[in-house]
Amino acid sequence: MYSCFSLVSRMGANASALEKEIGSDQFPPSEHYFGLVNFGNTCYCNSVLQALYFCKPFRDRVLAYKTAPKKKETLLTCLSDLFNSINTQKKKVGVVAPKKFVARLKKENEVFDNYMQQDAHEFLIYLLNTIADLLQAERKADKIAGKGKPGTPNGIINGNNNDMKTEPTWIHEIFQGTLTNETRCLCCEGVSSKDEDFLDLSVDVEQNTSITHCLRGFSNTETLCHEYKYYCETCCSKQEAQKRMQVKKLPQLLALHLKRFKYMEQSHRYTKLSYRVVFPLELRLMNTSDDAEAPDKLYDLVSVVVHCGSGPNRGHYITIVKSFGFWLLFDDDMVEKIEISSIEEFYGLATEVQKNSDSGYILFYQARDL
Ligand SMILES: [Zn+2]
Repeated sequence: MYSCFSLVSRMGANASALEKEIGSDQFPPSEHYFGLVNFGNTCYCNSVLQALYFCKPFRDRVLAYKTAPKKKETLLTCLSDLFNSINTQKKKVGVVAPKKFVARLKKENEVFDNYMQQDAHEFLIYLLNTIADLLQAERKADKIAGKGKPGTPNGIINGNNNDMKTEPTWIHEIFQGTLTNETRCLCCEGVSSKDEDFLDLSVDVEQNTSITHCLRGFSNTETLCHEYKYYCETCCSKQEAQKRMQVKKLPQLLALHLKRFKYMEQSHRYTKLSYRVVFPLELRLMNTSDDAEAPDKLYDLVSVVVHCGSGPNRGHYITIVKSFGFWLLFDDDMVEKIEISSIEEFYGLATEVQKNSDSGYILFYQARDL
């Protein structure tokens, strides 16, 4: 019988080379660097799991979930088993096989139930939403069973559970931010605003730019005119208006998705935009609203999911992560230490001679005041 998460014997050379390179006196105590076995185009999954493992607030919550009473198998119990298996290894470096997690993923969502390359961002969002749904369902079940926390209305279900749906889970505490969508009527100057929550931000990319530029573009003022006029409640008619979207609540962990895959009308397929987009190690959001709390919050880059290759359904995903001051590259079962100076190799290509590039695709920034 195959035992899940068993050490794969071929780890050998690569792993010990990494351990030697870091050096025993430099190796962070109680930290583990483990590659993940690829089960046939599952690098989209491996790359996101590694990126999330090095997002400390997320890792801590997933590890702690293990200690909860025995539950039926879900994507979250499988993820917790996987993270715990890495976290409790006697060796510092090696390889584990996320077999149970991948099997559960394929069972739960037919999109992932094949051997084709999938979109890492689609997987990330699916994973975060699935965990949030599981936590909300558990809370609801606990309330029905009368195990509601003291102070909450004694677990009685009054037929209207809609409010429980919006109660934040730790997924929301970690990743959720709020955008405010402001519309100004150009006739009466009246402003209406609507808030919407996000777990990640997807930004358009342009050639030879930076993340700050992409975020500014995201919050650019847009004029609504012609057939797109806006119905103004004050004017009681359709009017031209200006609209912009800004960050009102900054998340603890900012997940930024670069929209590198663009649908081409002519060819009816997606093409990759390998544009060079510089991502800094430290980031401040410039597109915050006037009423944002702590708008100058400083973010540190903690991990990057990198897409290698020319198209969404081809190519490969790897991850670079920061751990205890140095940078590591995770490529399925391979882990290596990289120099900070080589991070710029993952910005993309400054010229469009070829589309094949290793370019940052999902960036994870963690707020520093944690
Ligand atoms: Zn108006």
